[in-house]
Amino acid sequence: MAEKYDVAVIGSGPGGYAAAIRCAQKGASVAVIEKDLIGGTCLNCGCIPSKTLLASAHTLLLINHAKMMGIDVQSAVPNWPNIQKRKEAGVAGFRKGLTGLIQSHKVKIIEGRAIVTAPGKISIESDSSKTEIEAGNIILATGSAPIEIPSIPFDGKTVISSKEALSLEQIPESMVIVGGGVIGCEMACVYAAMGTKVTIVEALSRLIPMEDSWIGRLMEREFKKLGIESLTNQKVISVDKTTLPAKVSLESGQEIEAEYVLVCVGRRATVDKETVDALNLQMNGPVISVDKKMQTNISGVYAIGDVLGTTYLAHGAFAEAEVAAVNVTGGDIKIADYSLIPRAVYTFPEIASVGKTEEECNSEGLDVSIGRSFFKANGRSNAHNETTGEIRVVRDNTTNKILGVSMVGSIATELIGAARALIGSKEKITEISFPHPTVSEVLKEAAEDAFGLSLHNPPK
Ligand SMILES: Cc1cc2nc3c(=O)[nH]c(=O)nc-3n(C[C@H](O)[C@H](O)[C@H](O)COP(=O)(O)OP(=O)(O)OC[C@H]3O[C@@H](n4cnc5c(N)ncnc54)[C@H](O)[C@@H]3O)c2cc1C
Repeated sequence: MAEKYDVAVIGSGPGGYAAAIRCAQKGASVAVIEKDLIGGTCLNCGCIPSKTLLASAHTLLLINHAKMMGIDVQSAVPNWPNIQKRKEAGVAGFRKGLTGLIQSHKVKIIEGRAIVTAPGKISIESDSSKTEIEAGNIILATGSAPIEIPSIPFDGKTVISSKEALSLEQIPESMVIVGGGVIGCEMACVYAAMGTKVTIVEALSRLIPMEDSWIGRLMEREFKKLGIESLTNQKVISVDKTTLPAKVSLESGQEIEAEYVLVCVGRRATVDKETVDALNLQMNGPVISVDKKMQTNISGVYAIGDVLGTTYLAHGAFAEAEVAAVNVTGGDIKIADYSLIPRAVYTFPEIASVGKTEEECNSEGLDVSIGRSFFKANGRSNAHNETTGEIRVVRDNTTNKILGVSMVGSIATELIGAARALIGSKEKITEISFPHPTVSEVLKEAAEDAFGLSLHNPPK
């Protein structure tokens, strides 16, 4: 007899495990099925390992700037095996903790590849066994994988994805990164700090093309200081691997030598064809189609996270997991405005944004004012010798509400949570107290400036 659960979740990434725990908290009997490692992309080859490597890289840069802080340091040399060990230990520790956490909620973890064979029926296959379970509701949280460029397919040795890039055996001499989006720029920072000659090749006209153009321009300038070359409006057409380093040819005719070619041109949903066919699931191109309740076209089958292609962010998956979990356990909620899910890039300096961008507002014909404030005018940022960047706050002149915040600068990824709280508010920012001196005062200044009330900006 097949085991029966109220809810079965396929995939244990941020979407899957969050949905499973929330359903269990609401009293459901839950199974989560995982074919690989608990924690999914985020924990094992995404957010956590990349941020751990970035933290080592940041420490190295801080030491290299120690003289500016009045400290003499002989030299700082990255010990790559130890940096890797630290990263692996961190990931393994979190994976153990997460496994225990899931089990502490009495969620059954089942190892194997799950295929939905009919509504409420799942077949699970692992190396050692084949089983079937039944579930009242099913949540698909099968995530995503790196997109391959057909003319330069991944070989795991020279042409690699972010997964391999997180675990290289040695610091390479040179690397071409194809794609100047979030993952490409973060990996560029890791390796440039370690001493690799990094070249980013981006097909569009700027780095981080999903954000306003001032951000891409600023990042290009900052990357130059890190020794990163950014080639925008350029495409890689082939990689000749007969020599080492490989020869990377661009459409422009330029040739670059590189030990590794890291392809970061986006991710594609991991959708099991067998499940799609068995359920006759409605697709939206390569991603699963859902309504605002996260329900697919099949009653009792929900989908969340990267498999929807909505945010490709772990906290986007968390938000969708919350909606699906509430709905499968008797609630009735809808996903809120996606633009209110903050976007964060952990580069040097960091980038973050939430709500509408200035360029979006302009294209929608909205009458807006932009408040600006610069990190170089902030006391704490100067104390830390981290004065690059600025914060821009977009105010709707008609409603007086704050529509969006974009920032580049140190700890931008931490400040964006506070910025989210300002979106939609007409709150009198002048009456909100921010501690002094803190980097967060740059946000207060920019918001005040959006209302023409900045204390520390000269009159316009
Ligand atoms: C290098 C890198 C850095 C990133 N950094 C950040 C960051 O800083 N912040 C951020 O918000 N996001 C970041 N992301 C994105 C983030 O990792 C993803 O958005 C997030 O993991 C998506 O969660 P998910 O639950 O949808 O899918 P995933 O985390 O991909 O999990 C899906 C799981 O489903 C399992 N699975 C798939 N099919 C089946 C099946 N048939 N049966 C059983 N199991 C199955 C997979 O093995 C996997 O474990 C990063 C991604 C990468 C690659």
